[in-house]
Amino acid sequence: MADTGSETLEVDLLVVGSGGGGLTAMLTALDAGYTPLLIEKTELLGGSTALSGGQIWLPGNHYMLSAGVDDSLERGIEYLEAAVGDAGPGTTAARKEAFVRGGATLLEFLEREGLRFRYSPSPDDYSDLPGGSVDGRAIEAESVKRSDLAGWESWLRFGGWLPLPMFVHEAPDAALAFRTPGHFLGMCRLIARAIKAKVQGEAPLTMGLALVTQLLMALQRRGAWIWRSTGMEELIVEDGRVAGVIANRDGKRVEIRSRHGVLLTCGGFGHNSEMRQREQAAPISGQWTLTAPGDTGDGIALGKDLGAAVSNLDEAIWLPAPVLNGQPWVGAIWERSLPHAIIVDQSGERYMNEALPYMEAGQEQLKRNETTPAVPSWLIIDDNHRRRYPFLVAPPRKTPGEWIESGFMKRADTIAGLADACGIDRSALRRTVDRFNPMAEKGRDDDFGRGTTGYERKFGDPTNKPSPNLGTIARAPFYAVELVVTDVGTVGGLVADEHSRVLREDGSVIDGLYASGTGSASVGGRVYPAPGLSVAATLVFGYLAAKHALSLDRVPA
Ligand SMILES: Cc1cc2nc3c(=O)[nH]c(=O)nc-3n(C[C@H](O)[C@H](O)[C@H](O)COP(=O)(O)OP(=O)(O)OC[C@H]3O[C@@H](n4cnc5c(N)ncnc54)[C@H](O)[C@@H]3O)c2cc1C
Repeated sequence: MADTGSETLEVDLLVVGSGGGGLTAMLTALDAGYTPLLIEKTELLGGSTALSGGQIWLPGNHYMLSAGVDDSLERGIEYLEAAVGDAGPGTTAARKEAFVRGGATLLEFLEREGLRFRYSPSPDDYSDLPGGSVDGRAIEAESVKRSDLAGWESWLRFGGWLPLPMFVHEAPDAALAFRTPGHFLGMCRLIARAIKAKVQGEAPLTMGLALVTQLLMALQRRGAWIWRSTGMEELIVEDGRVAGVIANRDGKRVEIRSRHGVLLTCGGFGHNSEMRQREQAAPISGQWTLTAPGDTGDGIALGKDLGAAVSNLDEAIWLPAPVLNGQPWVGAIWERSLPHAIIVDQSGERYMNEALPYMEAGQEQLKRNETTPAVPSWLIIDDNHRRRYPFLVAPPRKTPGEWIESGFMKRADTIAGLADACGIDRSALRRTVDRFNPMAEKGRDDDFGRGTTGYERKFGDPTNKPSPNLGTIARAPFYAVELVVTDVGTVGGLVADEHSRVLREDGSVIDGLYASGTGSASVGGRVYPAPGLSVAATLVFGYLAAKHALSLDRVPA
């Protein structure tokens, strides 16, 4: 259907937001022969999904089974129950089951639509729990080229934070390239790919960009109707049913009516500082979020106005992160989990297991900050760390001079000197290091149990003995970098059921209104159970929403 430019129009399904959930819902509706419309308020498509690592957590997927990793949907459900438990109405057993089982049919559907994936082994965050997998259940999109998106290349949201065209599952090769021959070979392959791309003049897209590009390519093949720079501003309600939205299209008011419902898949509220300060613990604002700029909580606010229930708004997928050149860096997960590193608060005390999964590590940082200033905290490493492992973009042994000159990284020849540079009490930091070092030598962290789970050991150095995660802070010079608490997405939002239908406080359904992704209360509740959960959740619940709205699974009576 052509864009008529008229002020009122009617479609079969209206999809609000162009992240993974929105694009998947569109594809589902088009495949069934309907005419959906997607509106995206920014000029660019892909939202946080395009900026993401693009890992997708799908228990029992055939890629992991082909790689010899045993799994089943039942084990995935068992794990989700064990890791998440009951964390509010977004985490019901029915939603967990719909998520895992829906993921399996979604993968078949996406492959039929021509999308290509690969296994992306990364351990479940709580891999030792019942049903947990230490090898991991994620997949990620195969690489594609930007030019494959003929005509739509300039519509894509680029993050540009990665220096190399790598897959997420190659992160261990980068972190451990100088520790094992296998990882060294992996790193060589990665560099060869980067050089080839440079010579050919076009770097392959990987991660979230590859996923979004492949979804857009499939939508192109289906002739999808997408309006950019079109923001939902109001929901139209008729006879108690959501019948469409009022949108602002490049300054023009447009009434879009939808025969089969409205799917809000317009992200969380990472960039809405006012909402963050109201709903979340100090000192959180939109300042350090890594999410896409359009994630301002519009869907949550409009849904609430209609009487929708909300849950877990105080939570996010937190990530302790350094701020390099004004930008929070995605992660530092390896940097803090490898040996010869500790995290201390501003009083110089250790307060957490540094190898914790990132959402939990952020929660620990925020909790500590309630009693002792810990945002920012200090990530402290010694020269052994600098000699063996990369640090953000710096390879081992090569610390950029500008990091030291700008003060991003403090360096000193003694612990006392480092304490002075960081404004920490000298004797407190000395005490912390003196307590930590004997534990590191023994390979047992009696204070916080670092290195005791399968997940933590996967982010360690297997050549380091006796523990892959513990090493002394003993060899000068010593270094320190500030860690703020950033996030890759808020996780609280509108409460939806297993069909993605938005619910009121009393559990009744708001007719015609669906939600998926970070604008809905996450099926992961207050934990991040596994890498790829968030992208999987927006894809699966977007898919289930379209199927329910268009009655694709329901057999006529
Ligand atoms: C750096 C980074 C790495 C990550 N890595 C991973 C990973 O590997 N795996 C994983 O599972 N998760 C990852 N995440 C988290 C994950 O990407 C997101 O949680 C998920 O993709 C959110 O999807 P969504 O569909 O809810 O929202 P989004 O992808 O953000 O899409 C929402 C879209 O809606 C638009 N919108 C907002 N308001 C309106 C409105 N009023 N009208 C119209 N459009 C509107 C926004 O502009 C945006 O384009 C990562 C996130 C980041 C930032």
